[in-house]
Amino acid sequence: MSLTDLARPNIRALKPYASARALANSAGVLLNANENPWPPAGDNGQALNRYPEPQPERLCRKMADYFDVDTAQLLVTRGSDEGIDLLVRAFCEPGQDRVMINTPCFGMYSLSARIQNAEVIDVPLVEVENSDNTFDWQLDLPAMAAAPACKLVFLCSPNNPTGNQIPVDTVIELARARREQGLVIIDEAYIEFADQPSLISRLAEADNLVVMRTLSKAFGLAGCRIGAVIAHPEVIGLLRRIIPPYPLPTPSVTAALQALENGQDWQTQVATLNDQKAELVAFLQSLPAVRRLWPGTANFVLLRVDDGPSLVAQASEAGIRLRDQSSQPGLEHCVRISIGTPEENQTLMTFLKEWAA
Ligand SMILES: *Cc1c(COP(=O)(O)O)cnc(C)c1O
Repeated sequence: MSLTDLARPNIRALKPYASARALANSAGVLLNANENPWPPAGDNGQALNRYPEPQPERLCRKMADYFDVDTAQLLVTRGSDEGIDLLVRAFCEPGQDRVMINTPCFGMYSLSARIQNAEVIDVPLVEVENSDNTFDWQLDLPAMAAAPACKLVFLCSPNNPTGNQIPVDTVIELARARREQGLVIIDEAYIEFADQPSLISRLAEADNLVVMRTLSKAFGLAGCRIGAVIAHPEVIGLLRRIIPPYPLPTPSVTAALQALENGQDWQTQVATLNDQKAELVAFLQSLPAVRRLWPGTANFVLLRVDDGPSLVAQASEAGIRLRDQSSQPGLEHCVRISIGTPEENQTLMTFLKEWAA
């Protein structure tokens, strides 16, 4: 089966909307898009009166270089959230195709699937104990193999909110084994914090493997809403048919380019965050009130206490916002804590010391 055959029949038959910017050169006298010819106040040369490039060339090239892929393998999206949504809408026939998730996981996979009326098959992660009294999570591979056929499998490594990684070879094996069923998607939102390499360099080993990346986490650009789907050009071509004509606002693209081209020092920030995290993990391991700790390999930790909602509420009273994870299956009384600046980390530890006393 070709990759295109895996997509919904109506999407395969669709002719993409041809926007003015996609059809014509955007130099010269622009009378083809019903725009106002005058830039707004505060424009700063951005030409905000004009529709943006559908896939901004400079940003695409910059991101393709950084990911070391061809631009034909790349679709820049309005955050990874849009990438998830496009994949579900292109490949899942409502009321017919299924999506596999492995809870505890990011909520957008099942939300997008439910909006599309695609059945969600949950094969929960299995918890395992490490040799140092910390805990970890693994995919339940036999249960995944035994589950009904799924058009899309959403994996996430490092996973949110558990922080565990999936061995890269396991991802390749899964993709290859599931080639006739559909796509295997690996969400690498936190890969810059991890000690494992990205699967991008392994894409040639499985044409149904899709990698999702984002500028929202390590790159510090969550407010810009810029993500990327990296996959076989045939998959990217299908997604191009259904992405809105102008997904990326000009100010977001300008800001992202400035950050990426002017050497936003995200690598130093990642190293600092990883150091801060090591300090926090050591501190949490010394607190008996922390019943279980999943350090993981992302810019957050997950922990279980006796009363999770109460910890979150008390922290909130102290002006510190933590994320209650109790609503996730298997995560009763679990709290996710993001790693902040060294000062924020000290504030957090001071609060936790008092909370635990
Ligand atoms: C934060 C996060 C994202 C990023 O989403 P954006 O829409 O790019 O901001 C994607 N996946 C997971 C698992 C995340 O935690």
